Amino acid sequence: MSDHADQAEQNIETFLHSAIANARRHSPLQSDGHCVFCDEAVAINQLFCCRECRDDYDKEQRALRIAGGL
Ligand SMILES: [Zn+2]
Repeated sequence: MSDHADQAEQNIETFLHSAIANARRHSPLQSDGHCVFCDEAVAINQLFCCRECRDDYDKEQRALRIAGGL
């Protein structure tokens, strides 16, 4: 019985971990201390290490939107 409960708890934990990982993948504009564009370490709450990266990221996103037909 308690084994069963442990298993359920384990499943919830696994589910939460993958949900968080998914959310991270789908919202790159959430700062995690790394430049969104080049992965360089940046101050927390900073999305980009420099203006060039932000510009390049914007360009890339625009190109992706156009390529995706959105
Ligand atoms: Zn960068």
